[in-house]
Amino acid sequence: MSTPNQDCDRWLVGIAWRLDRLRWIPDEALTHIVLEQGECVSAYTNGEAPTLTGRDATDRELAAQLCATCPVQDECLELELRTAGERTFGVWGALAEDDRRALYPHWRQRGERATDLVDLCEDVEEGEGQ
Ligand code: SF4
Repeated sequence: MSTPNQDCDRWLVGIAWRLDRLRWIPDEALTHIVLEQGECVSAYTNGEAPTLTGRDATDRELAAQLCATCPVQDECLELELRTAGERTFGVWGALAEDDRRALYPHWRQRGERATDLVDLCEDVEEGEGQ
């Protein structure tokens, strides 16, 4: 029988594995997808978005409500993990911030992403110019 912590870890590892399919999609492409198809984008545009409180339990409920029908949850989550990492706030990718912070180390363990290669190429280019 597994403990609640083991169940939580399994849940997070499963999400991290699922996001692997997006690992080589550039940040710009993910941003475009989320802005084009994100459920909340139209809600905010129409003034129908819920207010986020920053309180964990409430944010989980809002994440479930706000993102439930969003077709780009994974793209949104991948982008937020890349750009905000552990300093993430609010509701993104159908997860509350505490859940994303707990997910982050599992996601990093999955290896390089498109962003890492861009950073690496910039480092090499800067090194060549010296
Ligand atoms: S997953 Fe949630 S926060 Fe992300 S684009 Fe969709 S509705 Fe917005």
